[in-house]
Amino acid sequence: MTPQLDGDAVAEPNYDDEFDAIVVGAGLAGSAAALTMANRGLEVLMIERGSSPGAKNVFGGVCYTPTIRELTDFDGAPLERYVAERRFGMLSKSDETAVSISPGEWHEEPHNDSYTVLRGEFDEWFAEQAVEEGTTLVTSTTVTGLVRENGRIVGVETDRPDGTIRAPYVVLAEGGNSLVSESADLKATENRENVAVGVKEVLEFPQRDAVIEDRFRLTDDAGVSYHYFGEGAVGDAFGGGFIYTNDDTISVGVAYRIEDAVAADQSPEETLNAFKSHPAVAPLVRDARTVEYSAKTIPEGGAESIPDLVHDGAAIVGDAAGLVLNNGVHLEGTNMAVESGYHAGNAIARAADQGRVGADALQAYPDALERSFVVQNLERYAWMMDAVEADRDLLFEDLPRAFADAGTEYFRMDRTPKEAHAENAKRAVLDAVGGWTGAAKLALRYRKVVT
Ligand SMILES: Cc1cc2nc3c(=O)[nH]c(=O)nc-3n(C[C@H](O)[C@H](O)[C@H](O)COP(=O)(O)OP(=O)(O)OC[C@H]3O[C@@H](n4cnc5c(N)ncnc54)[C@H](O)[C@@H]3O)c2cc1C
Repeated sequence: MTPQLDGDAVAEPNYDDEFDAIVVGAGLAGSAAALTMANRGLEVLMIERGSSPGAKNVFGGVCYTPTIRELTDFDGAPLERYVAERRFGMLSKSDETAVSISPGEWHEEPHNDSYTVLRGEFDEWFAEQAVEEGTTLVTSTTVTGLVRENGRIVGVETDRPDGTIRAPYVVLAEGGNSLVSESADLKATENRENVAVGVKEVLEFPQRDAVIEDRFRLTDDAGVSYHYFGEGAVGDAFGGGFIYTNDDTISVGVAYRIEDAVAADQSPEETLNAFKSHPAVAPLVRDARTVEYSAKTIPEGGAESIPDLVHDGAAIVGDAAGLVLNNGVHLEGTNMAVESGYHAGNAIARAADQGRVGADALQAYPDALERSFVVQNLERYAWMMDAVEADRDLLFEDLPRAFADAGTEYFRMDRTPKEAHAENAKRAVLDAVGGWTGAAKLALRYRKVVT
């Protein structure tokens, strides 16, 4: 096994021209690319700025694992809980109207390939899989720029003493804050309206055993993924809140558009605190102690914001390429990161076999991604963010209130006959959506969410 090297601890090994490929960032996309290339016999150097893979990583989060399972032996993966229930809660200021999905099938292996994980542990494990296949991993080292010769990318600049490292191929897997790709003009800086900020706390319950199992009605390794939207989640911002159960902690957070965060009169921390105090959320987090706090950006431009994925000597993967599906119903980036790293790694291995380095030689990567679920899913929901933005007041404020009013009215217990309550409930919703015509238009607009 090739050792993992800590950039701070290593004197000055000379890596220049020693490797076939350099991977920038040991997140999920980077490790998938490194593992794929190493499996195909390439000498790979993976450079990570954190003191270990995942040390700087932030996410909700549920890791979706169908591709990882294909790439490596998944048995030893550090998983927290499998997701046995997905709940979508619509929050007005003081009410919740929720839908919960909990199919029996999710209790069976492979648990719908949806597991809560802690990225510090999970990313380290996944990077180790690449290292076991021969990848050299250097940590505590930041890539500061790319080296070009005659327009072609031929290596990276780092903050190591030996600075420049050359190799025929560079994979940019630096995540959403992709300073290296942007400063090399491989992609444009993301529009603010296409970027969300996520803040998350990991909470533990020091006082009681089995509190997570009791509060979330869980047994064994089962866990939950709760998503919330509406003004009770993030005020009038475009976004939502989430709760995921880990083994003995929970992850609680909010994610919403950066431009709303800038315009808001409260900070992301205050928004998270307000979410945690909502009457539907407060009992779930009561008596919890914060053990970790983190914040990060999420690219959410979708299919239209994918940059050119290949350049002469380089490929961009994962969040750096904007490959995240975040539309209120789905928040998926982990599966897309791994899938893109896998296809990029394969394309580079094939190009290396042919001794070719130009962008055209790497075209197999965008072609494969186009055929995969990654681009297909992003394209399928490309319309959705604009629709949600246009219906923002209705979806985030009026409807949550209307559903809460309708539920209150429908189940109201008094001496009035039920017919009057049912009529009032129907009125509450129809008034919010603009009558039957408005309801039909709304259903037509969002039919692709379910059909
Ligand atoms: C709050 C939040 C919640 C989320 N929840 C979910 C969820 O529940 N499910 C889901 O599927 N997705 C979720 N996502 C999205 C998911 O986290 C990302 O899609 C995924 O992590 C992308 O993987 P990546 O490898 O492309 O990038 P990253 O995971 O960001 O990895 C990039 C790596 O590159 C390193 N790096 C960066 N720059 C340099 C440099 N210059 N030199 C060296 N190393 C560098 C970083 O330290 C990092 O290790 C969430 C994201 C956020 C922010």
